[in-house]
Amino acid sequence: MEIDETVQNEDEVAVGGAVALQRQARIAELTRELLEALGEDAQREGLLKTPLRSAKAWEKLTEGYRLDLTQVTNGALFESESSQMVIVRDIEFSSLCEHHLLPFFGRAHIGYIPDRKIIGISKFARITDMFARRLQVQERLTGQIATAVMGLLAPKGVGVVIEAQHMCMVMRGVEKQGAMTTTMSMLGDFRDDQRTRQEFMDALTMRSLGR
Ligand SMILES: [Zn+2]
Repeated sequence: MEIDETVQNEDEVAVGGAVALQRQARIAELTRELLEALGEDAQREGLLKTPLRSAKAWEKLTEGYRLDLTQVTNGALFESESSQMVIVRDIEFSSLCEHHLLPFFGRAHIGYIPDRKIIGISKFARITDMFARRLQVQERLTGQIATAVMGLLAPKGVGVVIEAQHMCMVMRGVEKQGAMTTTMSMLGDFRDDQRTRQEFMDALTMRSLGR
């Protein structure tokens, strides 16, 4: 049984690899066209390897499309008696805005109140990355993280706050460097119970917000 599974996994990896190579070749080709549309000479030395390099970067920056919660959390769920709020602060992330394909980046803060199930702290960064490495808008990213934690742990409540800087705003001059956009998603007790929400927000304000 175990041997069969191994063989199957290897097949899947090989198929996945072929698909990845096809995708890479297509993105490289499109990037060459993009360079030409920009008025560049795609054949000049500095740009010769850019399409392939860029395609490989895209592969990494959008790897979240090819991940799911089960893979990312890898069974790191535990039973726990505690029903005290857990807060994981300052999870650094970078993502791409779906309106301009330009980066936005910042920090995510996640809080939850367990109801018998908890998860390894490091998994919050992996969950954040899984959603961040897709084309996004900050509001949806925030909501997706909250919904994922809710679905995974069925806790009493979840709160997610994201502070980010959008290069599409900064580079086009719409916003000044350093301007932060804050989004929140509150579920369960974090949405319904004002004291819970306040406790969470106070914990964040103590240090990381308002810099
Ligand atoms: Zn944008």
